[in-house]
Amino acid sequence: MKILVVGSGGREHALAWKLAQSERIQMVYVAPGNGGTARDPRLVNVNITDLHELANFVESEGISLTVVGPETPLAGGIVNLFRARGLKVFGPTKEAAQLESSKDFAKAFMQRHGIPTAKYQTFSEVAQAHAYIDANGAPIVIKADGLAAGKGVVVAMTLEDAHAAVDHMLSDNAFGDAGARIVIEEFLAGEEASFIVMCDGKNILPLATSQDHKRLKDNDEGPNTGGMGAYSPAPIVTPAMHARVMREIINPTIAGMAKDGIVFTGFLYAGLMIDAQGNPRTLEFNCRMGDPETQPIMSRLKTDLVNVMEHAVNGTLDQIELEWDRRTAVGVVLAAAGYPDAPLKGAVIEGIPAETPEAVTFHAGTADVDGQLQVTGGRVLCVVGLGDSVKLAQKTAYEAVDQITFEGMQCRRDIGWRGLKH
Ligand code: AMP
Repeated sequence: MKILVVGSGGREHALAWKLAQSERIQMVYVAPGNGGTARDPRLVNVNITDLHELANFVESEGISLTVVGPETPLAGGIVNLFRARGLKVFGPTKEAAQLESSKDFAKAFMQRHGIPTAKYQTFSEVAQAHAYIDANGAPIVIKADGLAAGKGVVVAMTLEDAHAAVDHMLSDNAFGDAGARIVIEEFLAGEEASFIVMCDGKNILPLATSQDHKRLKDNDEGPNTGGMGAYSPAPIVTPAMHARVMREIINPTIAGMAKDGIVFTGFLYAGLMIDAQGNPRTLEFNCRMGDPETQPIMSRLKTDLVNVMEHAVNGTLDQIELEWDRRTAVGVVLAAAGYPDAPLKGAVIEGIPAETPEAVTFHAGTADVDGQLQVTGGRVLCVVGLGDSVKLAQKTAYEAVDQITFEGMQCRRDIGWRGLKH
């Protein structure tokens, strides 16, 4: 069987790596892929990003199934296009992907269906947005409505920062059309967790829980990033919390979409904030897996992912029971110098240790240039270590991290710290 994974990040490397472990796999293509997928003999990079051309490629190669990693092709309608051409693809349609591609859509949806989330209002007029901030005070959160590659959210701790964020998005058009409307919402305190499920249109299959680390520096300091590391499972999501999130957030979301005439298929990722009293609320939805959460999650998955994907596109996920490695997986992101503002490209990467049953390195912003591995993007690698506790998994991960070098390499030394606390 041949499978295509769309995307080029660490998430896609981890998905392709897991799919390629299946005995049923003849070939896993990754479009466009990265330096790591290029070097893996079981994977083949395909240098196509245009969706129509990708569909042509899938037809001509006889690829049975496509898995879509990132949000941009989903919001661009890759699933609608592939299905219209009779091709099997796992992901949400363009309509369903609005849960991620428009914050205003997601907030209105949650309000309509009684899904717990922060109080909010949407604005396109600068003066009204400023007045709302003055009336509500800081801390307060300002979000660009559209996709902004994880950069469209400002958690303003002061009124000055809040007003500046409004001006930046609405007056200066910092995010173009994506920031032509903004959502301003109540600041929520607590601990975050990533809750990801697969949905085939009828059945919901939860994946292992995880926790991301958004800030650039240790102790959750510095600017927000795409994610500097993640670990799985997240101990804050106890079995009771898991049941509650399914009951109050996930099930009503899938049912609400159906009620609104949109069948949800694909990965649904609820970014949760769990407050001190243990109440979960939804910060955001993503219509795909998280990056870097996918890397530790796939490192723990024991079930054949090809079987899972096949059931997912055939609407029979109820026949699948996922089996997880009981160990904790800690994934540490190694980022380029200058990340997140202006990542420096071109540094030569050395020392990536060979994969073992305890440690594996997934690539993101890398390319194989004449046999030399070079930095091509902000987040460069994600090193995953497995261990019987968070502490042991951390130790394994950082032992591997310490073998890797490239100029200006940045990484956090405390990935998993909340897990140690629990
Ligand atoms: P989002 O893309 O909406 O998940 O926002 C990115 C990050 O901003 C989240 O992971 C949180 O750390 C933070 N954030 C978003 N919304 C809120 C909120 N209402 N209160 C506090 N922090 C938030």
